[in-house]
Amino acid sequence: MLSPPGNQPGGGHGGGARGAGAGQQARQARPQADEMVQDPECKVYVPLSRAVTREVGGRTMHFCSGECAEKYVKGLRG
Ligand SMILES: [Zn+2]
Repeated sequence: MLSPPGNQPGGGHGGGARGAGAGQQARQARPQADEMVQDPECKVYVPLSRAVTREVGGRTMHFCSGECAEKYVKGLRG
C-alpha cells in the first residue's frame, strides 16, 4: 500500500533566546576645562569649571570662592 504523501505539520522547534540586556557603560568624557587649579589664598585645589576666576594685576587667578578672591586681592594691596 502506498501511503499518501501527507504533509506533516512542521513542528517549529526553536526557542527565541533573547539576548540578555547589553551592559554598555558610557565612558565619561573628561572635558579639558575640568582641570584642577589651585587657590592661592587657601591653597585648595578646585576644578576650573567651578573656580572663581579673577584678574589680579593683569594675571588670571582662580579661587575656590569669591571670598578667597577678595582676601587675596586685599592681601596684595596690604
Ligand atoms: Zn579658597
